[in-house]
Amino acid sequence: MSGHPLLVAGGGIAGLTAALMLARSGHRVTVIEQAAEPTEVGAGIQISPNASRILIDLGLRPALERVAVTPEDLRVYSTRAGGEIGRTLLGGEVERRWRAPLWVIHRADLARVLTEAVHATPGIDLVHDARLRDVEPLPGGIRAFVTIASEPHELDVAGLIGADGVRSGVRTRVRGGPPARYAGRTAYRATVEIDRVPEELRRSTGLWMSPKAHLVHYPIRGGRLFNLVAVVEDDWTDESWSVPASAEEFARRFGLWEPKLWPQPARSLLTLPAAWTKWALCGFDCRFEWSSGPVTLIGDAAHATLPFAAQGGGMAIEDAAVLAGTLEAAPNPAAAFRAYEALRKARVRAIVETARKNGRLYHLGGTTGFFRDLVLKLGAGSRLTERHDWIWSWRPSDLRKPRDILAGPAPAP
Ligand SMILES: Cc1cc2nc3c(=O)[nH]c(=O)nc-3n(C[C@H](O)[C@H](O)[C@H](O)COP(=O)(O)OP(=O)(O)OC[C@H]3O[C@@H](n4cnc5c(N)ncnc54)[C@H](O)[C@@H]3O)c2cc1C
Repeated sequence: MSGHPLLVAGGGIAGLTAALMLARSGHRVTVIEQAAEPTEVGAGIQISPNASRILIDLGLRPALERVAVTPEDLRVYSTRAGGEIGRTLLGGEVERRWRAPLWVIHRADLARVLTEAVHATPGIDLVHDARLRDVEPLPGGIRAFVTIASEPHELDVAGLIGADGVRSGVRTRVRGGPPARYAGRTAYRATVEIDRVPEELRRSTGLWMSPKAHLVHYPIRGGRLFNLVAVVEDDWTDESWSVPASAEEFARRFGLWEPKLWPQPARSLLTLPAAWTKWALCGFDCRFEWSSGPVTLIGDAAHATLPFAAQGGGMAIEDAAVLAGTLEAAPNPAAAFRAYEALRKARVRAIVETARKNGRLYHLGGTTGFFRDLVLKLGAGSRLTERHDWIWSWRPSDLRKPRDILAGPAPAP
């Protein structure tokens, strides 16, 4: 089966990757993105091997390697221990073991590479300043009501893929799924020129763990910028989900004036940015049904997660690959969407749960924090990538064949 006209609502990582995968299998895809032009917050993202191998398979390796950094190692620090407690090799070691790289990259660079690939691919229309308003069922498909540059339009398609992010209207209004809720964590993000950062940190990924807070840092933009993400347990009182925050507000919130809370090496990083952008981290229970008839959800729209396993974007890229596989095997989009959901749910839930547990581990204080640090110092800190093996080793070809899924449930083990 091929050649379905499909509509993807949302031109983020999920929507653009899905469009590329689907066009490759012969579908005609329209992607509508509400932003008037490509925009991505000035911050970084880690792309682990489970996702980078899919992007490489799409032919994007040369373009991504021009802008991504392959960090040499992951260094873990604890504020209660006062410094480094573990170091694990990344770089060539990850590529050797997982046959694909771990990249850290500016989101705008990733979005640009995906957008350029979309423009270069026949069969995809990417329309900016276009917003999905509503849908109604049609025999054998769906009618989408869309505004493009404030003008109303109707699009009749065989299937609708909601890739419209954590606050997805396709999830809440079309699928009747849960709304996004603040998860009690706020992320502050900033980038600084790399030459302001100590030389020995410029090729590494770092994680500082502290009671009720943590900091992640790594180089981006081909090594010219340094990305900082600091997360704190918090209440969210602002009206929007992402707002600017001054260095003073940041210092107050992270207790930078308390000399004992953040050791000097961490404090000197946290005081580099003149301003931050703060984000409410949101989630919802992803156990609802993502698919119904010719409508399904991918990426954050289906399963937004706390970012503490660095897998939200990775799962969005995996979704795109699986969806393209089921659409190749199924007689129609409705059957393909059901099969896609069946193939994805258990893994996605396990990753969401891992991220939640990581968040707890990073923020431990007192005796439990002491034992966490001890375990890392005694050797676990040099084997941290082991914990990710089940996530990073995933390949679309490992799945039960979409054709088998469509034929019926798996036999009991
Ligand atoms: C602090 C932080 C750090 C993170 N770090 C990592 C990491 O290291 N690695 C990783 O893999 N993931 C990470 N993530 C998660 C990752 O950013 C997300 O999972 C990923 O961006 C989701 O992509 P998406 O395309 O599903 O959604 P989005 O990126 O939200 O894209 C949705 C798009 O849909 C558009 N849209 C919305 N409504 C409509 C509509 N009605 N019509 C048309 N368009 C619409 C929006 O404008 C948007 O462009 C992190 C997240 C955070 C918050």
